[in-house]
Amino acid sequence: MDFDVVIAGGGPVGMTLAVELGLAGVSVLVLEGLTPTRRREVDGPMGARAMNVPTVEHFDRRGLLPAVRKAQQGAPELWGEDENGDAASIGHFSLIFARSSLLDRDDPDLRRVGRRVGGGGFVHRAELVDLLADRARELGVEIRHGMAVTGFDADADGVTVHAGTQRFRAGWLVGCDGAHSAVRRLAGIDFPGVEPEQVSYQAVVELDGDLPGGGFTDTGFYMSIELGEGVRLVGPTEYVSGPVDRDVPVTAELVQETLRRVSGVPVTVTRLHHGSRSTDTTRQAAEYRRGRVLLAGDAAHVHPPFGGQGMNLGIGDAVNLGWKLAATIRGTAAEGLLDTYQRERHPVGKWVQDWAMAQVALLRPDPRSRALREVMRDLLDTADGATYVVKNISGVARTQAPAVVFEDGSRLADHCHDGRPVLVGDAELLGIATKYGIAFVEGPEPLLVRPDGVVAWSGEGDPESVLRQWFCHSFE
Ligand SMILES: Cc1cc2nc3c(=O)[nH]c(=O)nc-3n(C[C@H](O)[C@H](O)[C@H](O)COP(=O)(O)OP(=O)(O)OC[C@H]3O[C@@H](n4cnc5c(N)ncnc54)[C@H](O)[C@@H]3O)c2cc1C
Repeated sequence: MDFDVVIAGGGPVGMTLAVELGLAGVSVLVLEGLTPTRRREVDGPMGARAMNVPTVEHFDRRGLLPAVRKAQQGAPELWGEDENGDAASIGHFSLIFARSSLLDRDDPDLRRVGRRVGGGGFVHRAELVDLLADRARELGVEIRHGMAVTGFDADADGVTVHAGTQRFRAGWLVGCDGAHSAVRRLAGIDFPGVEPEQVSYQAVVELDGDLPGGGFTDTGFYMSIELGEGVRLVGPTEYVSGPVDRDVPVTAELVQETLRRVSGVPVTVTRLHHGSRSTDTTRQAAEYRRGRVLLAGDAAHVHPPFGGQGMNLGIGDAVNLGWKLAATIRGTAAEGLLDTYQRERHPVGKWVQDWAMAQVALLRPDPRSRALREVMRDLLDTADGATYVVKNISGVARTQAPAVVFEDGSRLADHCHDGRPVLVGDAELLGIATKYGIAFVEGPEPLLVRPDGVVAWSGEGDPESVLRQWFCHSFE
C-alpha cells in the first residue's frame, strides 16, 4: 500500500477528514483536482459559508478555533439584538427571519450553548480549506493539487486510484469530490432525488439603472445588496420547468436577463466581476459505503443552499467517519463499526434535505405557496416557532457534548484535541481509561465522549460495555 487512505477532493469536507485521519496516525493522500489558485477563483468573493454550532464545536475540540476565528467574518450571537430587538442574521426559514427577541431563553439546548448559538458566523471556504490543509500537513498528510481522480479499481484488499496516468494503491478511497463526484459515479452508487425547479445566480456586478433591495415577484425572488463603489451583489432566483444546463457559462448577459425577468426592472449589467449558479437539485447517495469506497460531503448529498447547511453537514460526515475509518485501519474497531457511519449520517442528511426542500416549496411564486408562507410567518412570530427554527438551523438540537468546565479551569473541549475518546468521572474510572488508552479527566458528572463529540455514556450502566461497542480492544 502507498497509503492507508486516498481522499478524492480537498474541499472543506476532504480536508476535515484528512485532519481526523492524520490525528489518528493513519497515512493519507489527498488528491485535489484544482490548483489552490483555481479553487479561490471558483469561490470568488462569494465563497463565505455559515458555520453552525456543531461545526464550531468540532473545531473547538480540535484546538482549531483560534485559527478559524481569524478567517471568519462576523459572528452573530443569540442574545445580541439590533435596535428593533431583532437579530436577523440568527437565521431564517424560507427567507422569513426569526426574531431573537422571541427566543425561549429557558430552553435547555439554547441555554447550554448560550451566546454561541449563532455559530461561527461566516467563514470563507477557501480560507477554511487552507487552514485545515496546513493542520493536515503538520500531521503528515500528503496533499497533491491539480490531480483529479479519474478512475479506480477496487478489490477485497484495497483500491488502486487513478489520477491521469498516475496510480496510487490504498486501503480505502473516500470520495469528498463534491456534488458531481467522480468517485460516486465510478463506484456505480445510485444518487436518487428530485430534479431542480429553481435556478439561482449569485453575482457581483456593476449595474446601470436602479434596482431595489429585493423582493418576491410572479416569477421568483431576488436580492440586491450594495457592496460599495458601485458594485452590487445580486441574487435572482427563478422557477423553471425542464432540465437546467449547468454547462452554460454565467455571463453578464445571462445575469442581466434573469434579473430583468425576475425583478421586472430594466437594469443593465455593465460589468460582471464574478458569477455562479446553484439549483435546488436534491439527491442523496443510496450507499455511503460500497466495500472499500466511501462518500462524504456533497459527494453523498446535494440540496438547495437555503439555511447554509451543506458544508456543516459534510463536516459532520467527515468527523463521524474519521475515527471509525482510522480504528478500522488500525484494527481497534469493534465489529461493524464502519457500518455505523451510514446508519448515523444518512438520516441526518435526509433531515437536512427535507428542511431545505420545504423552504423551496414555500418560496414558489403561486398563490397557495404564498398563503402557506404567511401561515409560516405567523408561526415564526411566536416564541415556540422562533425557538424551533433557530434550534434547527443552528444545529443546537443536534449537538451533544456538554460544555463542562473542570476544577482546574480546563474545558471538556481542551481534552479532545488529539482525537481520542474522553472518559470523565471519578478516579475509579481511570483504570478503564488506561486499559483502552483513551483520555481521562476527573470530574463530577460521568461521561464518555466519542472522538466526534457524541456522548456515548453518561452514567447509566457499565462504561466498559459501552466502550466495547465501539472498540474491540485498547485504543493505543
Ligand atoms: C450559494 C451557496 C451558498 C452556500 N452557503 C452555505 C453555507 O452558508 N453554509 C454551509 O454549510 N454550506 C453552504 N453551501 C454548501 C457548501 O458550499 C457545500 O456543501 C460544501 O462546499 C461541500 O463541501 P465538500 O468538500 O463536500 O465539496 P466541495 O466544496 O465541492 O469540494 C469538493 C472538492 O473536490 C474537488 N474535486 C472534484 N472532482 C474531483 C476529482 N475527480 N478528483 C479530485 N478532486 C476533485 C473539487 O475541486 C473541490 O475542491 C452553499 C452552497 C452554495 C452553492
